[in-house]
Amino acid sequence: MANERPSKRGAATSSVHGGELRQQEANAITTPIYQTSTFWFKNSREVMDYQEGKTDREEYGRYGNPTWRAVERKLSELEGGDETVLFASGMCAATTTFFTMLPRDSHLIVTSDCYRRTRQFIEEFLSRMGVEVTVIEPSNLESFENAIRDDTALFFTESPTNPYLRVTDVEATCRIAHARGVKVIIDSTFATPVNQRTLDEGADLVIHSATKYLGGHNDLLAGTVTGSKEIVDPIRRALGVLGGIIDSHGAWLLLRGLKTLALRMDRHNSNGMALASYLEAHPKVRKVWYPGLESHPDHATAERSMTGFGGVVTFEIDTDLEGAIRFIDSTRIPYQAPSLGGVETLIELPVTMSFWDYTPKQRESWGITDSLVRLACGIEAEDDLIADIEQALTRV
Ligand SMILES: *Cc1c(COP(=O)(O)O)cnc(C)c1O
Repeated sequence: MANERPSKRGAATSSVHGGELRQQEANAITTPIYQTSTFWFKNSREVMDYQEGKTDREEYGRYGNPTWRAVERKLSELEGGDETVLFASGMCAATTTFFTMLPRDSHLIVTSDCYRRTRQFIEEFLSRMGVEVTVIEPSNLESFENAIRDDTALFFTESPTNPYLRVTDVEATCRIAHARGVKVIIDSTFATPVNQRTLDEGADLVIHSATKYLGGHNDLLAGTVTGSKEIVDPIRRALGVLGGIIDSHGAWLLLRGLKTLALRMDRHNSNGMALASYLEAHPKVRKVWYPGLESHPDHATAERSMTGFGGVVTFEIDTDLEGAIRFIDSTRIPYQAPSLGGVETLIELPVTMSFWDYTPKQRESWGITDSLVRLACGIEAEDDLIADIEQALTRV
């Protein structure tokens, strides 16, 4: 396997203790918010020792801060990677990584079921570097193998994807990719290191929008990249140039949120499974996408590689846009909002939210129908969520 977990502790222990220095100033238990833009040197000797790599310390706020470092170490332990870099957002993590890893005039393979802004970045910005892109269907190993060219540098996919929760066979994908010298980056935002250990399966890099489950409280934006030192170090240097850093208060909120990650994921997983099963049996629901259901196209892969399937459930109601709007506007517990992974349940109609800017033809090509709903279960009581969805479905 590509990477061994630095520590063999369980995810619940790593969530709490990973990356935290046991001895803090004043014997505090928690890591402080280091609210400083720069770090001073006592004399020129210290400056020169630092420049020569003889001391391990911080220099200037764009290159590092002890509060971020704790988050980075915790994520490295949870993912089983050498190094993690923390960013201001998930998009910043993805764009900085692409800029760093894609040579001019190279080739990139991505999947169709891909976060819209990532797709936009590839089309609008990477094309200026002469990067060509091939889009393939998710979890199709044959089309992936066929898409690889001599100049292919990277394969990037989310797993599970948004909104259909397609699950990539990371191990098989990496076997094919590595034989042809292609690096594999997995956006594991929907899985988290609790549900899937993507690096252990051979991925070169794992990316998160930490805005979602890792932060977990709908109160911050952040992104992370984890992998080997060899791959991550250049990305860290690029961050120092491009400047998309998180502030120390945001990093501290993430550190605090991460402590309950394993605990929260248990409830997200059980709520997701309960709601998916409930919805699949409901006469007003045409179709449900959830990797924990046997009806999902990637159920077997998900069962093999994941220990839980997360809180996001996508379903299509047997109605038109008006009916879907009546349903969503009648829900009482969920907030109608984009995003996922926080303690509060969120709900959206992709057609009115992330896909509003696209033509009906484009939406159709992605399967985004007018009555498609994305439900991102929080950690509320399962019975209350089901009762609320039940009463809202009577309004369809
Ligand atoms: C939200 C999200 C992103 C973007 O992350 P931000 O933190 O909002 O910048 C990228 N990938 C996936 C899968 C996401 O859900």
